[in-house]
Amino acid sequence: MRDKPILTIIVPCYNEEEVLKETMSQLGLVLRDMKDKMVIHEASDLLFVDDGSHDKTWDIIANAMEIQDHINGVKLSRNFGHQNALLAGMQAVEGRSDCIISIDSDLQDDVSVIPEFVEKYRAGYEVVYGIRDERKTDTRFKRGSAHLFYSMMGKFGIHLIPDHADYRLLGSLALQEMNLFPENNIFLRGIVPLIGFKSEKVYYHRKERFAGESKYPLKKNAGFCGGWPDVI
Ligand code: UDP
Ligand code: MG
Repeated sequence: MRDKPILTIIVPCYNEEEVLKETMSQLGLVLRDMKDKMVIHEASDLLFVDDGSHDKTWDIIANAMEIQDHINGVKLSRNFGHQNALLAGMQAVEGRSDCIISIDSDLQDDVSVIPEFVEKYRAGYEVVYGIRDERKTDTRFKRGSAHLFYSMMGKFGIHLIPDHADYRLLGSLALQEMNLFPENNIFLRGIVPLIGFKSEKVYYHRKERFAGESKYPLKKNAGFCGGWPDVI
């Protein structure tokens, strides 16, 4: 199972109609390539979680599900926020997938390093963190607020992995542990380091959004767990 795992790539989506087809296509190619190389199981798939979008996001997902076996979707009844959308995806595949990778839908996270995450999993790591190797694409405000955020959280005793957001792999054991956390205002990147397990890092270059706009405008960044952590 560790050798040729069933991988699910979980993609939270909120009003992402402008980018979604390209994301499906790029992730689909990465998945196909790993299947052809026998690195992952043929049942591996993409799971798109529609977080209460108001645009054509769900139509695009539903159409793709009908014609492509490797695409699956979950539709939430309203907008629950990025972290809860991810959690819903993680709960949906528990007991089915051997490992998951969470990734944003806007292609800011470099999909070409996905095979590196899987290699680390196959080598025995249960948690693999995607780490941004630089912050050039961020505004000065984002860079400054990220720095402040890490030092503030450290003072509260919450130790985050610097330059890691929500691009990560979790094996099924880690996934089980994560799904046991009862919080409903969950902050995944604060919890993952607490669950233990053997972990590794994969470095990547964070790009500009392929299309569409950030779903975290300034006003959301002012809220604590609702938005602030997503500036980093
Ligand atoms: N997202 C979501 N629900 C929300 C806000 C965002 O599922 O309420 C998704 C969004 O579609 C994207 C990811 O979370 O896949 C990160 O959002 P975004 O790219 O807007 O954040 P940024 O990169 O600007 O911090
Ligand atoms: Mg983004």
